[in-house]
Amino acid sequence: MKSNKDFSDTLLDWNRSSNYRQMPWKGEKDPYLVWLSEIILQQTRVEQGLPYFERFKKTYPTVRKLADAPEDDVMRLWQGLGYYSRARNLHATAKHIAYELKGKFPSIYHDIVKLKGIGPYTAAAIASFVFGERQAVVDGNVIRVLSRVYGIAEPFDTTDGRKQFNELAQKLISADYPGEYNQSIMDFGAQICVPAKPKCGECPFADRCVAYKDNRQDELPVRAKRIIKKERFFYYLVLKNDKEIIISKRGAGDIWQGLYELPMIESAKPIRKNLKKTVSDHLGVACEILNYSNIYTQQLTHQTIQSVFIFVDGIDFQQTNINGAIRVPLKKLHTFGFPKVVHLFLSEISLL
Ligand code: SF4
Repeated sequence: MKSNKDFSDTLLDWNRSSNYRQMPWKGEKDPYLVWLSEIILQQTRVEQGLPYFERFKKTYPTVRKLADAPEDDVMRLWQGLGYYSRARNLHATAKHIAYELKGKFPSIYHDIVKLKGIGPYTAAAIASFVFGERQAVVDGNVIRVLSRVYGIAEPFDTTDGRKQFNELAQKLISADYPGEYNQSIMDFGAQICVPAKPKCGECPFADRCVAYKDNRQDELPVRAKRIIKKERFFYYLVLKNDKEIIISKRGAGDIWQGLYELPMIESAKPIRKNLKKTVSDHLGVACEILNYSNIYTQQLTHQTIQSVFIFVDGIDFQQTNINGAIRVPLKKLHTFGFPKVVHLFLSEISLL
């Protein structure tokens, strides 16, 4: 194995000679905008995140503008990106920076990582890109590259494994160009050392890569735990007349907090019988089911959501009083933020 210096030099050479796409946040020195881009890009493909970054930057060009925005507006702009706690934390931290830190973004890793919603990865990205601090980013891309080049078979999702990858990453990062190094290894993992079918034929580490030499690219990196997905069944009630519809806001402690949805019955199993009775019991009045949609399936990291939308009739719309629900004019519906699946359904029935 060649030296650590070779690793960072090779990576920087690759970066300087590659034609990787320029992105609006690359080279950015405003910590607010770097933070914004990093939060948007977590768990999100660049192609999907890019228009969101542009919209946020235009709507809230400064941390103060974001801090002063109503939460519903922030959530609506975030709609469709998923992992909505990111948006809530972004907003809460913007307020903290704008009011308590008097608009001054912390400038060292140690302080940045204390901000709500900013983990070690994002803090290292901001500290290195903006402030030139030698702090290595460690995300899925970095772990994949390091485990393959160095043949590390330690599971990365254990305490020991995480420690090992963090230490190696910190040892390898360039002292002179930490920001460029971090950007490069992330780009390299996204472009060359990709999860399936890495492009070893065009890789500058092929002469020393353990995975390539031993043909173990598919085995590395190693994950210890299998992700077991919980299945959830959401039955949404479409309660509307010609002018209004009933919606409700999702509360704390679950997915999609702060977004709006239709009144919903959650069931641990699919409801195959007595749907009318279940809905009537839930609403507290006898009602009719006019129709229902196909099943919409949404995969989240730890859960699979199956949603069905039920068109309900036979209730006194004006008198309906479902806990926490509000009646809104159909023409105002677009001003609320909805989870993807609800937004899709409402668009399909031409309400959005
Ligand atoms: S040789 Fe292949 S597996 Fe090894 S670092 Fe390069 S792309 Fe990844």
